[in-house]
Amino acid sequence: MLVFVSAVLFIVLSPLIVYLLRKSIAKDDRKALQSRDLSWYSAKHPACVQGGKVACHACSGAHVDVRYLPVDRQPMVGPAWREHVCKNCGETLFYSESRNLLEKT
Ligand SMILES: [Zn+2]
Repeated sequence: MLVFVSAVLFIVLSPLIVYLLRKSIAKDDRKALQSRDLSWYSAKHPACVQGGKVACHACSGAHVDVRYLPVDRQPMVGPAWREHVCKNCGETLFYSESRNLLEKT
């Protein structure tokens, strides 16, 4: 009987524990992404964000690629996030939420 109860508890609680752990990690990820958005990049590298254009702080490259974060790096809650990456050197410049579809980079 004890084995049966233990097995049932394990089966019921394991997914719950995994879900709660992933949710807490995802919240931290979301805050980390939000803390590195375009306004953060503009404040940190003001010379690189001028006239609505963004340049790379590492190589001064003017071409920025926008791509969705892979699924394992996306927050579990809320819209999908993208990273803005320098096409020249591959440096990640900042992150943005996908809901701002008309946002310029
Ligand atoms: Zn660069």
